[in-house]
Amino acid sequence: MGLRKNRRSKYTMKKTMSLGDSKMKWVLSLVVCFLLAGGTTYGQAEGVPILIYHEILNRAEEPGETKISLDRFKEQMKYLYEHHYATISVDELVNFMKGERSIPKKSVLLTFDDGWKSGLNAVPVLEKYHFKAVFFIFPGKGIGEPYMEWNDVLALAKNPRFQICSHTMSHPWDKQSNLVTWLDGKPVGKDKSDVMYELQESKKELEKRLDKKVNCFAWPVGWYNEALIEMAKDAGYEALFTAEDGSSTKGGDLLRIKRTFVDGACNMTIFKQTLQNPKYHVCQTKNRTTQGHSPYD
Ligand SMILES: [Zn+2]
Repeated sequence: MGLRKNRRSKYTMKKTMSLGDSKMKWVLSLVVCFLLAGGTTYGQAEGVPILIYHEILNRAEEPGETKISLDRFKEQMKYLYEHHYATISVDELVNFMKGERSIPKKSVLLTFDDGWKSGLNAVPVLEKYHFKAVFFIFPGKGIGEPYMEWNDVLALAKNPRFQICSHTMSHPWDKQSNLVTWLDGKPVGKDKSDVMYELQESKKELEKRLDKKVNCFAWPVGWYNEALIEMAKDAGYEALFTAEDGSSTKGGDLLRIKRTFVDGACNMTIFKQTLQNPKYHVCQTKNRTTQGHSPYD
């Protein structure tokens, strides 16, 4: 069970005790010490870092943009917990950005793309700290090895702290053949109707399987353009997640929500910097990195 729970119950006990003046002073100084020591600070968050994870591997021999070792991931989650970060859900993020609710000052949103089977390694760690998370699934080609099975996705969806969002049906990721180039009529045989199918059908399929509304979506490889945003709106999505770094603020654009990759090759110092200023730090050198939102060079 989380320490946070114990802390809360102790605090409630103190609050309900009948207090003399000296006792009151003592309790107040305790509260001040707790706050100074970095206890959960409530108030209006200025900007929320949204972290992108993909594969969580027992042994990440080549850690990078989409691969992180389970040990490093555990270390990062422990850091968030010990430094009193509050993980938030997509709904909480949306309401915060709309200015309809405040969230703890140190808030963070954890996102897991593609529904990799290895992403399930994150679940016991998230559970240990009662962390919230969102999983972007592409229910056409993204079910079954090396991705999760439907029963895995359904089990995640049943957890009140986890949420499932759409990531298209087939996750077109080829530089020559993807949602942007399809809309531009580049590859023969692909056009706007194929784009609409990816947007609409993935939403429909997930809603049918999960029996709940799905109004959040992430662009495969973070590639999109203005026309695609309009189509995603028409398909019924409310929150569109990019792969462009930065933090999300009150009054920010729900159709261009910024997210930041956590490169599995980066150390804890970089991770702490990313939380302070969600800039994408590239620490691996072997693989191509995802930057910007266009598949064209
Ligand atoms: Zn993806």
